[in-house]
Amino acid sequence: MKLNLTAKIVIGLALGIVVGLILNLFAPNLFEPINTWILVPLGKLFLNFIKMLVVPIVFFSITLGVAGLGDPKKLGRIGIKTIVFFIVTTTIAIFIGLGLAAVIQPGAGGNYDIEGASFEAQPAPPVIDTLLNIIPTNPISAMAQGEMLQIIAFSVFIGFALTILGEKTKGIHNLLEQGNEIMMYLVNLIMKFAPYGTFGLIASAVGGLGIPALKAMSLYFMVVFIALVIHTIVTYGSAVAVLGKRNPITFFKGFLPAMTVAFSTSSSSATLPISMTTAQKNLGVPKAISSFVQPLGATINMDGTAIMQGVATLFIAQAYGSDLTTAQILTVVLTAVLASIGTAGVPGVGLIMLAMVLTSVNLPVEGIALIIGIDRLLDMTRTAVNITGDAACAVYITESEKKHQSSAN
Ligand code: ASP
Repeated sequence: MKLNLTAKIVIGLALGIVVGLILNLFAPNLFEPINTWILVPLGKLFLNFIKMLVVPIVFFSITLGVAGLGDPKKLGRIGIKTIVFFIVTTTIAIFIGLGLAAVIQPGAGGNYDIEGASFEAQPAPPVIDTLLNIIPTNPISAMAQGEMLQIIAFSVFIGFALTILGEKTKGIHNLLEQGNEIMMYLVNLIMKFAPYGTFGLIASAVGGLGIPALKAMSLYFMVVFIALVIHTIVTYGSAVAVLGKRNPITFFKGFLPAMTVAFSTSSSSATLPISMTTAQKNLGVPKAISSFVQPLGATINMDGTAIMQGVATLFIAQAYGSDLTTAQILTVVLTAVLASIGTAGVPGVGLIMLAMVLTSVNLPVEGIALIIGIDRLLDMTRTAVNITGDAACAVYITESEKKHQSSAN
């Protein structure tokens, strides 16, 4: 029987959870060698394969995407709609997180080790610097360092120049198109390895989970998890149905392969090649739109992260017994939007950026120590949500651009 790729990836994921749990609960001694010799290599190989393609894909596809839009006005229009969608959905996400945390009060009443909590906060990069640094002084170094926003900016400029120069730069245009073909071919090839990679990553993460820590923090975990589910189903579901004019079930089903890969890698940025091909193949998003919206989203649109930051802030406030005023809550909303924009699409960064949110309302940064133990599992979940938000936006832009095409005709 020939299973399709999505089914294989989902089986890899499920088997990974089962094997990880068995090792964790019944054979902790075996976990170490199996993890080192089988699980980590499988996962690492897969991660390296897809990460290898991220920078060239972003460069080729954004350049071609912008050039493919043709009209610079169209780029401006899509750019504005995309950014507005990102900011609105992220704000909704934080409100869902804050609302649930305020009602359920995961931090109140628990006995948390506040005295023993210590966390070395790394200075979060000031958001203004991130914004100013969008224009790279050296594009080659931006690519070498994988500075996503800088690569996006450089690619937008090249795409823009290709549009204006037209025939004169046909040769380079063709070269980029062929480069893109090669990358897409490689993504499809690497995806054949995804079920094994996913299995390795998940079994390793689940096997290494501190189950006792998870139990102690189960209420916090549940609040973040429920907020993530509500945001995905309600916010994205209705955005896809109302703005994107699609059946949400078809949307979630179609995007499932990318979500499972995001879940297992905990990295929006590493999942990017797969989220883009999945949106193009299964959701009918045109290349030009997917190439612009998704890389940008994987870098700045992190609704899942914003939810965690909102819940974590209230949780820490409750655990330390401090009440936040309405003005402080609004500060949390604003800084969490900025912090999630500033969060890089790699594992665990959302927690580091949480320091910025806590500092803005004078909460102790050490509080992060309380939640760090179970962040791995939440990171996986929120990353899947993060990239789904980008895909929902791509579907919305696809639909809204149809109107312009038909009104232009
Ligand atoms: N791992 C998340 C992502 O890549 C970011 C975070 O919240 O840590 O989307």
